[in-house]
Amino acid sequence: MRQYEHTLWGRMYASADETVRDVWLPSLGRAKSARPDAELAAVSQVMVQGQATPRRRARDLPPAAATEGARCTERVRVFDVGCADGSAATLLSAGPGEVQRSFTEHAAPALLAAAADDRTQPGESCVDCKAIAGCADLRRAPGLWGGRPSAPERRRRSVSVWDLRLHAQCPAQYHLVRHLHLDDLSAENRGARRGRAVDAWLDARHGDRPERACRDRDVPGPDDVRAATDLDAVSAREAAVMLAEHRMLCPLTGLGGNEQVLVQHRVTAYVPELDVVVLATPDLVYTHRGRWIWRETKTSARPLPERESLLRSFPQLALGVLLFHAGVLGDDPRRSWVELEHLRDAPGHSRLERVDPGRAENVEEARAVIAELAQPLLDDTTYEPRTGRHCHGCQARRWCRAGTAYVADHPSPSDPAQQREPAPQEEDCARG
Ligand SMILES: [Zn+2]
Repeated sequence: MRQYEHTLWGRMYASADETVRDVWLPSLGRAKSARPDAELAAVSQVMVQGQATPRRRARDLPPAAATEGARCTERVRVFDVGCADGSAATLLSAGPGEVQRSFTEHAAPALLAAAADDRTQPGESCVDCKAIAGCADLRRAPGLWGGRPSAPERRRRSVSVWDLRLHAQCPAQYHLVRHLHLDDLSAENRGARRGRAVDAWLDARHGDRPERACRDRDVPGPDDVRAATDLDAVSAREAAVMLAEHRMLCPLTGLGGNEQVLVQHRVTAYVPELDVVVLATPDLVYTHRGRWIWRETKTSARPLPERESLLRSFPQLALGVLLFHAGVLGDDPRRSWVELEHLRDAPGHSRLERVDPGRAENVEEARAVIAELAQPLLDDTTYEPRTGRHCHGCQARRWCRAGTAYVADHPSPSDPAQQREPAPQEEDCARG
C-alpha cells in the first residue's frame, strides 16, 4: 500500500485554546479573491486534522502514524495575502463538519484523480519532468529554428512567443515577469483589456458544442458587451464592432459536424539539442476537410503593419509555421494553414491573412524570425534592462530602477495612468 502525506504550507496561527486555526496563503502581487473548491477543501482539511511538524528534507520518511488535529478546533479560517500590496481576502471560514463534507465532495475526487491518473499532458510541467527522455507523448522537434545550444549549459527552460517578445523588448522585464513572477499591480492598458474581452467572448462562442458559427448568432451590441465584461463604454463599443467584424471571418462558418475545433489548444514541442520546451497556445486550431488550420485572432486600433512581413510582425504565426513544418500538429504541412484574423474597431477594415507552412520560403523566414528572438534569450545570463517607450506599460517597472528613472524623465503626454493606446505588439504581450 502506498502512503500519502497531506501537507500545507503557509503562515499558520491558532488561538491560545486551539478553538480557532488560521492559515494565510501568500500570493505574489495582490491577494487572490478565490481559489478552486478542491484546493480550499484540501487546505481546510489539513487545518482541522493536521499538526505542525518540523520541515523535513525530501528524502526523509514521513511520520509513521497519522496526525490528529486538536479535538477542540471549532473553526478554521483561510486567508489570502498579497505579498506586493499587503492586501488580504477571506477565502473560507468553516467548522469541522462543513470541512469534512467539502473534503469528501471536492478534494477527495481531485486527490484520487491526481494519485491514480497516469495520462500524460505535455505542457509547462515538462520543464521539471524527470521522465522526459522516455515520454512518447511530448513531440520532438530537433532543429526547430536551428538554434545553438547556449554555453555554459543551462537547465531546461520553456519558451513561448510571449517570452520571446518580452525579452526582445527588455531582458529585465522578461526576467522579472517570467522567472520571478513579479506582476504589476496597476490596471492593464485599455487596448489589452479590450483585446482580452474580445478573445474571451470568441473563445466562449467557439467552445460551444455542437459548434455554431458566429454568423448564425445574434450580433452583440455595446450594451451586451458591457454587461458581460468589465469594459468602459468606449471600449465596449469598439469591442462590439470587432465582434461584428468577426462574424464575416468566423472560422466555424460552413464547417462540417465531424471537424475538430480546439479553443486555446496547448501545443508543446521539445527541442532536444537546446533542452527547450516550446509552448504555444493558438486562439483556435481546427480541421477543414483533412486540413489543419491554426488561427490567431488579433485586435487592433491600427491597420496591419505594411512595412514588415506578417511573420515578423506576429512571431506567433512564425512559430505556428515551424510547428506545422516539424509535424508537431497535423501530419502534412502542405495541407495546413496558419491564419491571422486581424480585427479592427472600424467596420470593413478587418482582414484575414493566410500563411502556407508548406512553402519553403515561409519556413525559412519563420526560422529567421524565431532564431533572431530566441538566441539572445537563450544566451542571456544578465537580463539587463533596456529602457524605452515600453517602460510606460511594463508590468515590472516598480522593481526596476532604470525603468522608473526612464518614465520619470520621459512622462507620457497622454497618460500617467496608462490610458494610452498600446503599441500593436503590446496588445499581444499583454494577452500572452
Ligand atoms: Zn466565430
